[in-house]
Amino acid sequence: MGFPILKKEVLNDRFYILEVHAPHVLEKFAPGQFVMVLPKKGGEIIPLTVFKYDTQKGSITLLIEVRGKSTKELLVRFNEGDEVRDVVGPVGAKPHLEKVGKVLLVGYNYGNACVYNIGKGLKDIGNEIHFIAGFESEETALSYTLFKDISSDIKVVSGGIKKVKEEVRDFIDANKDTSLVVSAGIPEFEKEIEEVADVFEVPHLTHASAIMIDPVGLAGSDRVFVDGEVKYASLDGPWFDGHKLDYDSLIQRNNIFVDYEKEALRKFEEELEKERKRAARKKRV
Ligand SMILES: Cc1cc2nc3c(=O)[nH]c(=O)nc-3n(C[C@H](O)[C@H](O)[C@H](O)COP(=O)(O)OP(=O)(O)OC[C@H]3O[C@@H](n4cnc5c(N)ncnc54)[C@H](O)[C@@H]3O)c2cc1C
Repeated sequence: MGFPILKKEVLNDRFYILEVHAPHVLEKFAPGQFVMVLPKKGGEIIPLTVFKYDTQKGSITLLIEVRGKSTKELLVRFNEGDEVRDVVGPVGAKPHLEKVGKVLLVGYNYGNACVYNIGKGLKDIGNEIHFIAGFESEETALSYTLFKDISSDIKVVSGGIKKVKEEVRDFIDANKDTSLVVSAGIPEFEKEIEEVADVFEVPHLTHASAIMIDPVGLAGSDRVFVDGEVKYASLDGPWFDGHKLDYDSLIQRNNIFVDYEKEALRKFEEELEKERKRAARKKRV
């Protein structure tokens, strides 16, 4: 028995939402944690943040960015009423959240789901939340309304990493009382945000998006270096002190499988194209 998809919503060419019935996740869930989803038997298990949840319905909502084969397959092959094979979780350490005052959340693409998730926890203990939701382009940017219950100050910024970085710099410059910056997205993005947090000497909590082959670090693919020590993003993270995370080694490790990832996506798209042509032929006869 799998986990039924209660709702699917395609937001634009890059993002979609899946609400999945998975009450077991909520029994022990804490802000900052995530799940690992296995769409189908023999598929790839992928880490996804619990973007929102509904304890009454026992459902979790995932905000997903199409990046490679698995995220595309989930989009095109799964619909409302279908079941995903497995939802493992909650996974990850429960981060120690404190009331610190003014908090700036900065997300980039899928990272907006991650900062929203932990930001909700920070809001619930009385922090003042500000949110810069960064996206690669205007066409793929999401509406601020998705995040509006977390803050009344949400700025959607599209146009790439450098543009978001400028916004973060301007915000902290104008808000010298910022007590914490929380960032999530690809490590290339987080490294840029760390540069700003470092210059302004603001504490920085960041999300290590390492490759996770299993939920407990057994495969070791999610090894990261924090202050020179080996940590496992799935067990000790994914949230770490942004001043101490070694971004360069994380970027390097994340690129290890890129040729295989490109090939898997290419083959899958070829398969989809064949199916499309077959369906068109059928329609004609
Ligand atoms: C703790 C954690 C929480 C996460 N939460 C979320 C979340 O809430 N939502 C979400 O959307 N994602 C989230 N992610 C990221 C998500 O897990 C990955 O995006 C997903 O596993 C990618 O799987 P895939 O098979 O679709 O892509 P993969 O095949 O694994 O590809 C991913 C990488 O390869 C590159 N790539 C793939 N194909 C090509 C190509 N043809 N050309 C160039 N580059 C290519 C991609 O750009 C990317 O760098 C999270 C990650 C972690 C670690």
